[in-house]
Amino acid sequence: MAIWNLGSINIDVVFSVPHIPSPGETLGSTGRKIFLGGKGTNMSVAVARAGSRVSHIGAVGADGQWTVDRLMENGVDTRFIAETEEGTGQALIAVDAQGENTIILYPGANHAIPLTNLQNALSEAETGDRFVFQNETTLQAEAAKLAKEMGLAVTYAAAPFDADAVKAVLPFCEMLFLNEVEARQLTEATGQSPADLPVDDVVITLGSKGCDWVTSRGTTHFDAMKVDPVDTTGAGDTFTGYVLAGLDQGMPMGQAIEQATRAAALMVTRHGTSDVIPDLSEVRAFRM
Ligand code: ADP
Repeated sequence: MAIWNLGSINIDVVFSVPHIPSPGETLGSTGRKIFLGGKGTNMSVAVARAGSRVSHIGAVGADGQWTVDRLMENGVDTRFIAETEEGTGQALIAVDAQGENTIILYPGANHAIPLTNLQNALSEAETGDRFVFQNETTLQAEAAKLAKEMGLAVTYAAAPFDADAVKAVLPFCEMLFLNEVEARQLTEATGQSPADLPVDDVVITLGSKGCDWVTSRGTTHFDAMKVDPVDTTGAGDTFTGYVLAGLDQGMPMGQAIEQATRAAALMVTRHGTSDVIPDLSEVRAFRM
């Protein structure tokens, strides 16, 4: 079986600054680091490191070939990543000494993914495969509909949250991943509690409090592992990728969530994004 991920690819450029600049101010940076980011990228890398086959559907600009190479080195199938005239998606992040940040997000190629790439990718999918997507690309409604018609299990990670985007894809989804804030926003937007949504499984992640798995049969809570977090970036993406990989490998949902909980806990003990997502052997060896 395989997982098909329609997802963003971003170049994260992180500038260290003495303070967050004010309007009109020119400010020198004391350092610059460049990372491979984007929720889509993180999820593909998580699935691959968890040991499942994953194909990434997306787009980069001429400046993004290295991001594709990096995904490939991680074992991700990159045949369905197009090169577009738009530049690669970028997050320009300024972080001050207190850890306060400000972010400019340029979607670029993530909003120019050709429909043919999606169609070509899904023409290779087989019944029983899983399709996952997030809210950092275009083509979401088309993709969800097409994937469902082809008999794939459709999973949506509704982040960054947009009520209209969720409402458009909800009828095609089997599984939904939300964090606590997104779950509240969805309840406000639809007037329905997670248990009443027309999807089989809703997983609500609660940061250091773990997660709730909600179905029409009831809610099961899973505690997080007790760790000292240093950077929670990418925790949710790692968690989702590991749940999908676990299900792909035939685990029951509870077991997949337990493994994902360990992977996400290990992730928050590390600085960085896709480069530091743990692999399966690290997750299995991780004991508290
Ligand atoms: P998101 O990054 O999408 O906001 P969460 O912050 O809810 O998602 O985190 C996703 C999962 O990562 C949680 O369900 C939990 O298993 C794990 N996690 C997040 N923060 C911590 C933490 N401080 N300690 C242990 N596990 C954590």
